[in-house]
Amino acid sequence: MFNKIKETDCICGRDHKFTSNVIVEKGAINKLPDIIKDCGYKSAFIFADKNTYCAAGEKVEEILKISSIAVKKYVFSSDILEPDEANVGLAAMNFKSDCDIIIGVGSGVINDISKIIANVSNKKYIIVGTAPSMDGYASATSSMTMNGLKISLDSKCADYIIGDVDILCEAPTKMMISGLGDMLAKYVSICEWRISNLINGEYYCEEIADLVRESLKKCVDNAEGLLKRDETAVKSVFEGLVICGAAMKLAGCSRPASGIEHYLSHIWDMRGVEFKTPVEFHGIQCAVGTLLAVELYEKIKQIIPNKQKALTYVNDFNYNEWANELKAFLGKGADSMIALEEKEQKYSKENHLKRIEIICDKWDNILKIIDEELPKFDDLVKLFDLIGLPKTMTEIGIDNDILPLTFKSAKDIRDKYVLPRLCWDLGIIDEIVEER
Ligand SMILES: [Zn+2]
Ligand SMILES: [Zn+2]
Repeated sequence: MFNKIKETDCICGRDHKFTSNVIVEKGAINKLPDIIKDCGYKSAFIFADKNTYCAAGEKVEEILKISSIAVKKYVFSSDILEPDEANVGLAAMNFKSDCDIIIGVGSGVINDISKIIANVSNKKYIIVGTAPSMDGYASATSSMTMNGLKISLDSKCADYIIGDVDILCEAPTKMMISGLGDMLAKYVSICEWRISNLINGEYYCEEIADLVRESLKKCVDNAEGLLKRDETAVKSVFEGLVICGAAMKLAGCSRPASGIEHYLSHIWDMRGVEFKTPVEFHGIQCAVGTLLAVELYEKIKQIIPNKQKALTYVNDFNYNEWANELKAFLGKGADSMIALEEKEQKYSKENHLKRIEIICDKWDNILKIIDEELPKFDDLVKLFDLIGLPKTMTEIGIDNDILPLTFKSAKDIRDKYVLPRLCWDLGIIDEIVEER
């Protein structure tokens, strides 16, 4: 799957490395004993939760025991597993370090926690995916909540990623459409990666972008079958999610798989942690963010950049006032965003001037990128309807009134150039969301 990039130096000049072994096929878990024995190992420790143990953990345990591989396990008993200190603690306290290898059986949170334990115990790690629900299977970080804040913690990339299509096809429908939602986000990610490459000279790799585009196309072409649990559709989404996780690893940044739509989702997650407002599955939030982004990009296509307007807007911009708005809107989470700006200085007039000159100069190229990468809003709406993806913030329980602040805060979340930054640079950020 990754041979094209693995075997030769890439056109982008970087030497891409992806070392995980990926097996996605029917009956894939039956290969586990051989994988473990080939490593010279004799014992395994399984992490699962109640649901994933029933869905696959029990079967994995049985298969290993029949092959004389010793198995110990810890099955989380909570109904909703939070990726926090308490559950990492539970995992660590129940873990038996005399095993040779760790197997996580589950999706997002089980994988995130198991990777942390595999990392600190320096064990090889296998993830047996139970749902095509998010793109973290191949990532080397864990999305956690620490001290009440959402963070991305360096952990470990799985040595083996196992997607047993028989198991994946039994996943809850909502998890499947969430996975497709996380894939649809890639339209925007790639678009913004290219735009930032154009405006800021940020590193970009066409080979990696192509890998993501190809897997996204496969998912969209087969989307209709997802609700019927069609094997090709389910396999496409799982493979696509693994490829996108791998693409981030190959690129050494999150650009291939996350853009403004992910940041909108992060903002809702942050408010969920701070103010206990509703949160939805990652991929579903990203899907809503994607539709919003595509709608706003269509509005961007209608404007003609006005350098004077942009300079006046930036001249009148008061960062301290904005920082206070951020604090009120996001609570503690705003502190790291404010600290980031001290380093980054994206709001400095000097840096803005450099960008706006390039933006005005290369506006046609920006429009071309938007046209090439993004689907038409109406076509995307049809696809959402076809598979039952929520389309609005209201549908996922988030108050639509916070859209303007969600959009504006999303530009401060990381040091990445995304749509609200382009809107700020153009001096149109206030109007673009309010006129919506
Ligand atoms: Zn490359
Ligand atoms: Zn994602």
